[in-house]
Amino acid sequence: MPLHETESLVLKSYSLAEADRIVVFFTRDHGIVRGVAKGAKRLQSRFGSTLEPFSIVNLEYFQKEDRELVSIQRVDLLRSCFESASEPRFLQTFSYIADLLTAFVPPQDPNETLYRMVKACLESADGSAGTLSAVRLYFELWLLRLGGYLPDWNACAICKRPLADDESVDLQADFQLFCPACRKSRSNQIIAGPHREVFHMAQRLDPRQFAGFALDKSDIVLEVSNVLKRIISTVIGREVATEKSFAVNS
Ligand SMILES: [Zn+2]
Repeated sequence: MPLHETESLVLKSYSLAEADRIVVFFTRDHGIVRGVAKGAKRLQSRFGSTLEPFSIVNLEYFQKEDRELVSIQRVDLLRSCFESASEPRFLQTFSYIADLLTAFVPPQDPNETLYRMVKACLESADGSAGTLSAVRLYFELWLLRLGGYLPDWNACAICKRPLADDESVDLQADFQLFCPACRKSRSNQIIAGPHREVFHMAQRLDPRQFAGFALDKSDIVLEVSNVLKRIISTVIGREVATEKSFAVNS
């Protein structure tokens, strides 16, 4: 039974039997890993508070060859988001991120680039609630980009003409952009220069820089985010709640 050790983010946990928990980690070296933490529900558990969602930890676990569920041996806290995680909007944003990760990433499929991106999102949102919408968009965009699903909004998808900064173009059903000369009919959603600027800057900056850039652009961030949610919905085959329905539910 090999022992693995890797830095990880705690995504969520469930009760299992009387004293144990099942914990879902996004690990740096092995992707999504689900494990049993024996005795984690006991007051004097050796895991203490290390299994709180959105903690960054060093994880040690044993894995039997034929089992998906690993046996968690040791968890050392590297960074806690305990205070932020008591904020409903932070909790909502990162629960959403955790859900999408488990829907997108196959179990135990290593993806260090994605891991680093999510960790950077967590670190930039921790303690700065005002950046949550920008961080969510950043995550959605990079999740799609790293999966190869992000459309190219630099140019018309038909004639390949680069779009001018001040040009407003139609969003097509497949989320590509057609210039006015190429489009056959008007779509009901326009993607303007400011939308494409947000879209491009999220690809050029780190999450903290992007949150700063997007500070006074909350409407545009929301509109672009809702397009990205529709793309994600088509990729994972189920509805992703848009920002509006988040607000209604909270
Ligand atoms: Zn065109």
